[in-house]
Amino acid sequence: MNTVELVKLLSKAYGPSGWEGQVRDVIKKMAEDRGFECRVDTLGNLICHRAPTSADNMAEAAPQKLLMAAHMDSLGLMVTRITGDGYLKFGKLGGIAPMDIVGLPVRFANGTVGTIHANSGTEAKDLSFDRLYIDLGVSKKEEAEKYVKVGDVAVYDSPCYVSANGKYITGPYMDDRACCAMMLLAMEQLEESENDLYFVFTVQEEVGTRGAQTAGYGVDPDMAFIFDVTDSNDVPGGEADATCCTGKGPAVMIMDSSVICHPAVVAHIEETAKALKLKVQRDVCLVGGTDGGPIHKGRGGVPTGGVSLPLRYMHTPQETACIKDIEEGAKLIAAAVCRA
Ligand SMILES: [Zn+2]
Repeated sequence: MNTVELVKLLSKAYGPSGWEGQVRDVIKKMAEDRGFECRVDTLGNLICHRAPTSADNMAEAAPQKLLMAAHMDSLGLMVTRITGDGYLKFGKLGGIAPMDIVGLPVRFANGTVGTIHANSGTEAKDLSFDRLYIDLGVSKKEEAEKYVKVGDVAVYDSPCYVSANGKYITGPYMDDRACCAMMLLAMEQLEESENDLYFVFTVQEEVGTRGAQTAGYGVDPDMAFIFDVTDSNDVPGGEADATCCTGKGPAVMIMDSSVICHPAVVAHIEETAKALKLKVQRDVCLVGGTDGGPIHKGRGGVPTGGVSLPLRYMHTPQETACIKDIEEGAKLIAAAVCRA
């Protein structure tokens, strides 16, 4: 399976925060095919383990335990009420702007599809979640209830496609399925290593990095690497908001609003990139956190860093990433975690 096929497959899998089962099943199968031993913790994090494959018999220290994390969950829309004429009112799971989702097709776990609309006559400046609803193409509450219940969650059903020049991929959930793909690609490319490797696909990141907290505690790593998307500055008006852009390589995490990366981890990733002759950028993200937040504060503290994937149109149904950035990110991860 090539990178595009992998990202498409992961993007299509249903997995809003709290309901990651379908996407987890897809990833678990792939991780097992790559020789990893997988377990699922209480909150639903998928923990994929590879024991050291080479050991320095002279070494007295135990092998280093490394945790690599990308989140499986996506944004979602939870049904809060069904009107008498069968329209669905909803709230959001994660950071969603109402202007980004008007006219959008959505899909529920059971395959039921619908479209988001705003109340007739709503002006753009007045758009809010109270004025949005999902139309299932029914005309009565009882009919809608055959397909959907209060508490069910819809995901974006927008397409995943490659740009005309073959360089970019657009889809609803590059955040963070593109980084899940990056981890799975890295898991195929690992060298022999004395390190004890835990690739963790976390849950509930979009609602406050909840899965990462229990995963970090459970694995109890010596060092952690986080893989998530970051805003790119190569969009009109985006120059001031971000430090990296798409197409110029993966970005080494320096900080986000939840973690200041450990200098030794930053240096290790940058040195690995240099050794591989990979071009990388530096990601300073002033707004928005990652799984690195809870993980670096676990137990007595964990040296934490990571690789960010620059992304256009974050948290919209048309998130756009550069395919080469994903592939080079995978190479960087594979080398960095084996050599740490
Ligand atoms: Zn994310």
